[in-house]
Amino acid sequence: MTHPDFLWRNPEPRPAYDVVIVGGGGHGLATAYYLAKNHGLTNVAVLERGWLAGGNMARNTTIIRSNYLWDESAAIYEHSLKLWEGLSDELDYDLQFSQRGVLNLAHNLSDVREGRRRVNANRLNGVDAEWLDADEVKKFCPIINVSDRARYPVMGATLQRRGGIAKHDHVAWALARQADACGVDLIQGCEVTGFELTGNRVTAVETSRGRIAAGKVALAAAGHTSVLAERAGIRLPLQSHPLQALVSELLEPVLDCVVMSNAVHVYVSQAHKGELVMGAGIDAYNSYGQRGGVHVIEAQMAAALELFPVFSRVRVLRTWAGIVDVSPDASPIIGPTPVDGLYVNAGWGTGGFKATPGAGWVYADTLAHDRPHPLAQPYALDRFTTGALIDEHGAAAVAH
Ligand SMILES: Cc1cc2nc3c(=O)[nH]c(=O)nc-3n(C[C@H](O)[C@H](O)[C@H](O)COP(=O)(O)OP(=O)(O)OC[C@H]3O[C@@H](n4cnc5c(N)ncnc54)[C@H](O)[C@@H]3O)c2cc1C
Repeated sequence: MTHPDFLWRNPEPRPAYDVVIVGGGGHGLATAYYLAKNHGLTNVAVLERGWLAGGNMARNTTIIRSNYLWDESAAIYEHSLKLWEGLSDELDYDLQFSQRGVLNLAHNLSDVREGRRRVNANRLNGVDAEWLDADEVKKFCPIINVSDRARYPVMGATLQRRGGIAKHDHVAWALARQADACGVDLIQGCEVTGFELTGNRVTAVETSRGRIAAGKVALAAAGHTSVLAERAGIRLPLQSHPLQALVSELLEPVLDCVVMSNAVHVYVSQAHKGELVMGAGIDAYNSYGQRGGVHVIEAQMAAALELFPVFSRVRVLRTWAGIVDVSPDASPIIGPTPVDGLYVNAGWGTGGFKATPGAGWVYADTLAHDRPHPLAQPYALDRFTTGALIDEHGAAAVAH
């Protein structure tokens, strides 16, 4: 049991660790936590070049769901959702995890077909899923415009009632606090700039605070993973894009579920505090600047207003972007790399917040046992040469 007022130490880096995790976002912190908790590995450091959760972890729109089409995806996201269901208690921290239901809207016949197919696939995989027609959507979320004269008429929706949101910064702090309490060193302001290889094995990382020897190195750097891997001589099939989100001024409770529309790239929920939290589709170009183009927000707002005319006089408070790492099949890459001792967890793109506990769990297990966790096995890097892709791109153009 940790002291409620104490978050974590700020230790100086030690000269060597059994495992060095690169990146102090949700995935890096969850990996450290489960390494300690599930595998008793505590000679572990998380190296973060900025501050904990300064990347995508506290920039995302916090949507949590597990209703993915393909078996491999449903398995890992459902594992994660089950962990979410006990996480506030386990971490002894109020994560404001709210299972208020996630609607995925259908706007044309092909969306309807895809949605119904996904509901059936989800049920076969033990994932809760329902199909709602337009009237039922209106009943579930009364402020949605279901007029058939809209540019993107609502023809129905999938509903996952166990889906919802959580407060992302609380999740990061809770994981950090527990990892720290187990003895993990969380080192902020420490950028990894290169890798020391002995033969084909990684033996140390070079950092802005000196050399740190490592038994194993685990990348968890989201949008910067391909840049880092290249420094170890590995080219990863990842593209980094800005992804933008925004919040409105605070409102009285008006929206008590999550609404997503893949066709128009709108996803919206109302945070506990009262602001509407909305996200856009990715900015199409590659970038490492945490900002995006105004035109993307403009197009997204136009579509959002058509779905929710009631928001027409709401003011936007602020917008921002994160840098997401998108793989060719819009699915993650988890496991060993061609360099011995170097592991990767990346490619979660626009949808990795919901995976935070699940990814941390399977990545920690993979690191501890030097072989992919069964849920990670389909996500091996070699699928891009064998062709065994898990094509969530085709199944869900937006994967938040
Ligand atoms: C606007 C937006 C909306 C999103 N909405 C959702 C959503 O609704 N639901 C959902 O499930 N997902 C969503 N996502 C995706 C989700 O945020 C990411 O997939 C997930 O956060 C990635 O894992 P992470 O938290 O570890 O990443 P990050 O928090 O980005 O962690 C990576 C860390 O690595 C650090 N780093 C990078 N290079 C180095 C280096 N050389 N040395 C040391 N440290 C380094 C970075 O500073 C960063 O802190 C969204 C993302 C964005 C940007």
